[in-house]
Amino acid sequence: MVKSIGILTSGGDAPGMNAALRAVVRTGIYHHCRMFAIYRGYEGLIHNEMKEMTSSSVSGICRMGGTIIQTARSKRFMDQEGRKEAYDNFKRRGLDALVVVGGDGSFRGLHAFINEFGIKGIGLPGTIDNDLYGTEYTIGFDTAMNTALDAINKIRDTANSHNRIFIVEVMGRHAGDLAIYTAIASGSEEVFIPEKIEDFSAVVGRIEKGISRGKHSSIIIVAEGDESGGAFAIKEKFSKAKPEWDIRVSILGHIQRGGSPTATDSIIASRLGYESILGLLDGKSDVMVGYQSLDRVVQFIPLEETWTKKKSIPEDWQNMAKVLAS
Ligand code: ADP
Repeated sequence: MVKSIGILTSGGDAPGMNAALRAVVRTGIYHHCRMFAIYRGYEGLIHNEMKEMTSSSVSGICRMGGTIIQTARSKRFMDQEGRKEAYDNFKRRGLDALVVVGGDGSFRGLHAFINEFGIKGIGLPGTIDNDLYGTEYTIGFDTAMNTALDAINKIRDTANSHNRIFIVEVMGRHAGDLAIYTAIASGSEEVFIPEKIEDFSAVVGRIEKGISRGKHSSIIIVAEGDESGGAFAIKEKFSKAKPEWDIRVSILGHIQRGGSPTATDSIIASRLGYESILGLLDGKSDVMVGYQSLDRVVQFIPLEETWTKKKSIPEDWQNMAKVLAS
């Protein structure tokens, strides 16, 4: 029977992590569990940085960006020796389950921790990249997408005023979700994602066609992990092919991680946090709670599948982005 639960946020921060923390703590307390926040991710577990939470410890955090219990990357947790130190603190505190909000790296760590020491654990998908198999949306993705969209709208104004082409780099090392969703939402002309190698001369041809039809600007969205090498490398290629084009680069960078979560992120985080406790109390472990918006259901996916299986961007989404920009 699960009675004492620890929660930590790990890896890259994402808006909505606080809403998830609030939901986990309050649902746990509602079900008569003792709840402990572990600060600075796995590194804090190794250093025994924990605090027992009450319902009021999480008051007013639902709309806050970042994570009030902080996050970290922990080299020591990558080794069994580090994980043993973490486990000793975990046991000394009387914990029997761990909730981890993070991305695939954090889940690999949790999977190892569960299997080495026989504890219970559940993962909540917290990353702006939306790159985890088994969930339609990850906590933070919607906010990051809206932040990028707002920035691109502003860039469009200046691009139109000067007849410019803007190459806008958004986050996403291995996944093009943020790039393709923002490209569609912002009406951008082209998008480069890591999942697909673009025919560069075809891209140049399409932009040229747009210019000849009287377009005053073109926006090209690039995922930071794209095969072509990111925004500056793509600009070089364009400048070689079309030296007469006025091309500017804008890297959106860390602004995409910050800010108050959107309503959608707050709701997804709250729901997944709530369900993670119900799952643990129901005996579930070594799984991630995922969310499917169509039926508004949650599902429990084996942690290992979240990184061994690949979430793909449907081909017709890529085609749609092209058709709508033509
Ligand atoms: P994210 O969870 O956002 O993908 P990282 O990949 O940086 O972020 O992972 C966060 C932390 O999870 C790492 O700093 C490390 O402590 C732990 N971790 C990542 N991969 C592993 C692994 N294979 N084994 C054990 N721990 C891991």
